[in-house]
Amino acid sequence: MSADAEQLTGAWAERGAPDDYMHEETLHCGCCGRMIVRRAWVVTAPEEPGGELIFCEPVCERIYAEYWLPRHGGGR
Ligand SMILES: [Zn+2]
Repeated sequence: MSADAEQLTGAWAERGAPDDYMHEETLHCGCCGRMIVRRAWVVTAPEEPGGELIFCEPVCERIYAEYWLPRHGGGR
């Protein structure tokens, strides 16, 4: 096992409402679908409509990059 940090480009950011997670405007991880309550792992993605991808954890960015992109394409 090596290069664990390869291709991780996101950063933690405050998203969603800390004390209002029952609110309807909840965020969900773009990879596993888990609800994001306070912190989100945000990845800048110019090819995405919103300009970014939101995940619950860094590992989800990795899973997304390794499994989703090769199968669904990166928009090109
Ligand atoms: Zn996730």
